[in-house]
Amino acid sequence: ASSLKKRKIAVLGSRSVGKSSLVKQFIENHFVDQYYPTIESTFAKSVVYKGVEYDCHIIDTAGQDEYSPINSQYAIGIHGYVLVYSIASRNSFSMIQIVYDKIVDFCGVSDIPCVIVGSKCDLSQSRQVDPSEGEKLAKENKCAWVETSAKDGTNVSKVFELCLQEIEKRTAPSQAE
Ligand code: GDP
Repeated sequence: ASSLKKRKIAVLGSRSVGKSSLVKQFIENHFVDQYYPTIESTFAKSVVYKGVEYDCHIIDTAGQDEYSPINSQYAIGIHGYVLVYSIASRNSFSMIQIVYDKIVDFCGVSDIPCVIVGSKCDLSQSRQVDPSEGEKLAKENKCAWVETSAKDGTNVSKVFELCLQEIEKRTAPSQAE
């Protein structure tokens, strides 16, 4: 059996919540202030989690709204999900449950390995979503939850560790390779 485990992770959420910035900070360790809308890009990084090396493929998506269908590309072959809202946008928070339900519905499962991320936590003066609301939503959907800032680097690698944790929790030992 190979020692390297490949895990595909899709990053979803409303436009401009900071999905690309989160991925960029994780992969390249830097932050850009400009906003360049993403079409879709995939990044690879090897991550050692609990002594195991994972070859992570991270798919940064364009962003979803209530009308976006979940296409097969975000469902088939994806091991885990990172669902991002901005703590400074109530609307982006409302999108999380909508996107979550669409994925679960598309995949025909009861739950999915998922981390809910409250991004831009450095913008505390513009906060519209309380941490307790994020935690509650995560609990209701059996997801992990964390607040991050791609700007100052807070909890950026934590997001992907939590995602691997959620994936491994649901992977039976016989399927783990
Ligand atoms: P995406 O459309 O979800 O991929 O969002 P982007 O990553 O392109 O970010 C949208 C805007 O929010 C950009 O202007 C970023 O500089 C800004 N942004 C992203 N993350 C943060 C953060 O953690 N803190 C702050 N203050 N701004 C951020």
